[in-house]
Amino acid sequence: MCLSDSHLNILKDLSGPKGWQDDPREMSAYLTEPRGKYQGKTALVLLPDNTQKVADIVRYCAQHKIAIVPQSGNTGLVGGSIPTLAGDQVLISLKRMNRMRHTDPDNQSMTVEAGCILADVQQRARDIDCIFPLSLAAEGSCMIGGNLSTNAGGVNVLHYGNARNLLLGLEVVLPSGEIWHGLTGLRKDNTGYDLKQLFIGAEGTLGIITAATLKLSPYPHQKQTAFVAVPDPKSAVELLSIARRVSGGCITAFELVPRRGLEMVTHHMPGCRDPLETAYDWYVLLETTSSLNRDLLDLERVMERILEDALKKDLVLDGVIAKNDSESEALWGLREHLSEAQKHEGGSIKHDISVAISTIPEFLLKAADIVEALIPGARPVPFGHLGDGNLHYNVSQPREMAKSDFLERWEDLNRHIHDLVKDFHGSFSAEHGIGRMKTTDMARYKSSVELGMMRRIKAALDPEDIMNPGVILPAEISQEKA
Ligand SMILES: Cc1cc2nc3c(=O)[nH]c(=O)nc-3n(C[C@H](O)[C@H](O)[C@H](O)COP(=O)(O)OP(=O)(O)OC[C@H]3O[C@@H](n4cnc5c(N)ncnc54)[C@H](O)[C@@H]3O)c2cc1C
Repeated sequence: MCLSDSHLNILKDLSGPKGWQDDPREMSAYLTEPRGKYQGKTALVLLPDNTQKVADIVRYCAQHKIAIVPQSGNTGLVGGSIPTLAGDQVLISLKRMNRMRHTDPDNQSMTVEAGCILADVQQRARDIDCIFPLSLAAEGSCMIGGNLSTNAGGVNVLHYGNARNLLLGLEVVLPSGEIWHGLTGLRKDNTGYDLKQLFIGAEGTLGIITAATLKLSPYPHQKQTAFVAVPDPKSAVELLSIARRVSGGCITAFELVPRRGLEMVTHHMPGCRDPLETAYDWYVLLETTSSLNRDLLDLERVMERILEDALKKDLVLDGVIAKNDSESEALWGLREHLSEAQKHEGGSIKHDISVAISTIPEFLLKAADIVEALIPGARPVPFGHLGDGNLHYNVSQPREMAKSDFLERWEDLNRHIHDLVKDFHGSFSAEHGIGRMKTTDMARYKSSVELGMMRRIKAALDPEDIMNPGVILPAEISQEKA
């Protein structure tokens, strides 16, 4: 079904002057996602600049059963922010809703609109000597509305939690067009269901987040970054336990890097070099931070103590501690360029999984066996947030194989790795959400009880199924299982 001219004209009016775009060339940026895996079609991109306009648009769409796809920075990698090719959905971009409404240093909070870019929010927090600790490689373009709707993770989850843990209040336009004014800065509020949490990780299927009150923390002026070689992932897990105990909770990042990944980065990414003279199989990038002054807590001493304790147990083989911010950035570059470097090695099949931290070593051994049995010569490059039990289990193609032949095995390999994750009681989607990409995994790995609850929540809030239909829960799957 195409949208009639009359619908389109009314929606344009509701969004106001400069509040829409219907030129196909201008709209194309909204209709493809970063990896180019999803392409969509729409007759209209709406760009409202305030909450009332969003509400008016949604109410009209509800009355006329017009499906809506909300979009913030469009950096989600699972197709959730892209309309289908049917052309019958309107896209609502929040990018013009980018006002920072209020900062409250004593409450350690700030209220911002959904279209604020994450890096700008981080900077505003920094201006008042605070940190908004959500941090991910896409922070220069992803936006708060998208971050909350995907419950984004990133590199500081170990200490500060996911986006969910950084939220105090929300303003949401419901699928009926009603506005929920939930922008409280409260840290304690036990008045029934915690409604804001419903919208976190909902990927735009339950309403449109228009603003949020975010939790800040004191700015950590002290930081220590180390890049160490470990004998194996089991030693990395033990090192994490030592780091947690010795640092008294100051450990904020703990990232696993395999030798194969480091070689890809140093080979393909300009300016990246191996900081150690000898080659080792596995590395950990760990970081401690604190807002305490050095006379109260000397983080340099803490990092040394972590590594001394680990060395005594042969958990660390070698390592380097950054002496300043630029050295720290160089070490982080080795971790952050892993995905990019992999692109230079041909096709890569990706998994975004989590298992209990203690089971990561066993998981990695079993996963490597599965990969080799399925696609001999394929090269696993598992890396990422070991401190959260979350690994990007990426697999690069065998050197001699055609890229297209390898990528044809995507679903097959996903299926086997995700089955293994299930055996470990883990999650097949730890960070990036479900979108349109992983809906069949929902049917395979979520229980009928879980799917039934999700379907009932969706039906209660969005009975006409206008909010991002087909994302997270395709109707036929949820009905079948409920
Ligand atoms: C290079 C790169 C690195 C990344 N690293 C990480 C990482 O470390 N950790 C991580 O968690 N993710 C990561 N991501 C994924 C992505 O950046 C996050 O999911 C991010 O939170 C998405 O924000 P966005 O503003 O781009 O949202 P979008 O992509 O625009 O939207 C994401 C989903 O949320 C919905 N949505 C958007 N805005 C709203 C709103 N206001 N109300 C309701 N629903 C809405 C959309 O419909 C869609 O389903 C990375 C992506 C890239 C490209």
